[in-house]
Amino acid sequence: MIRPTPRLEIHTDRIAENLHAIVGQCTEHGVQVAAVTKVLGAHPALLAALPNTGVSMVADSRLTNLERVAAADLGLPTLLLRPPAPRTAARTVQVADASLNSSLVTMQALSEAAEMVGIRHGVIVMVDVGDLREGVWPDHVVDLVSQTSHLPGLDILGLGTNLACYGGVIPTADKMELLVDLRDEASRVTGLPLELISGGNSANLPLMVSGQMPAQINQLRIGEAAILGRNTLDRSAWPGTRQDTVELVTEVVELERKPSIPQGERGQDAFGQTVKFVDRGVRLRAICDLGRQDVAPEDLTPVDPGHIVLGASSDHLIIDVTDGDITLRVGSEIRLRPTYGGLLTASTCADVWKTSADER
Ligand SMILES: *Cc1c(COP(=O)(O)O)cnc(C)c1O
Repeated sequence: MIRPTPRLEIHTDRIAENLHAIVGQCTEHGVQVAAVTKVLGAHPALLAALPNTGVSMVADSRLTNLERVAAADLGLPTLLLRPPAPRTAARTVQVADASLNSSLVTMQALSEAAEMVGIRHGVIVMVDVGDLREGVWPDHVVDLVSQTSHLPGLDILGLGTNLACYGGVIPTADKMELLVDLRDEASRVTGLPLELISGGNSANLPLMVSGQMPAQINQLRIGEAAILGRNTLDRSAWPGTRQDTVELVTEVVELERKPSIPQGERGQDAFGQTVKFVDRGVRLRAICDLGRQDVAPEDLTPVDPGHIVLGASSDHLIIDVTDGDITLRVGSEIRLRPTYGGLLTASTCADVWKTSADER
């Protein structure tokens, strides 16, 4: 079978290796791993990597993705990774065992929805320790937990926080200690055990392995470090993981020798930008069937070290292939590695075919 382009090839076995390595590192520090699947839309080729790695939960930011997780029947509890919209309460308690929350009204709606169907919904109360995304400010946490502790349809599992996402704030020991102190205080006031402390995402791993993360932090929610093998503080390779886990494959639709500088009077490009060009002389240029609609060219690194991604318009990705390893023709495939942001847009783009790398 000729496989379509553009396509995203997911190496299930390699991601499983990464998860296994990270779960090992986390276990040494008493930390459970919630595997975060959103960047690949909980694709079955990713979900197939989860069994036997030791992850304790599957977490995703979208209910539609969690429905895919439910269909895969992994036997793992599910976590909705963002505060649900109140009007989705009924659906949330159906598809997610637990969710991240910061608003009383939403938790009231979740409690009612859970009671209606005779189940209990788990809640992690989110605390904003400085990144300015979701979570209540520390001075309001104990109040909020007290107010929610009576809601009959909910199990308040504990507290959580998220850093390095919106504000780029680095997880540090003092941020984590603040979270632990708040848990202890909320637990004292409400009498709830609040056993779970979900300390953050991939960006917490450096703090954890340094031994400086408080021992009470017992869960991390891990996406990028496992799926792309990256330390998300600086994008270096994360120890023990591999980076060749997903590839974006595109097809050459034109292959021509052209100068590297546009010829003629110049104005703006299709996106209102005035682009600077590097003069490398006459070069062999491949136009590929991928564009900004699918992924930003800045988010792509060619697998062939001789290839240079020059840029893209909506539907044409232009690559300088002069120094490439193999001889290309129109119809040849070119492979690229996406960043996390690139992977997110490509995997959520309807025109990009998502597949297991082993599928033929
Ligand atoms: C996306 C997300 C994660 C995972 O982040 P990574 O950097 O991919 O590990 C964890 N927690 C929350 C709340 C998220 O939205």
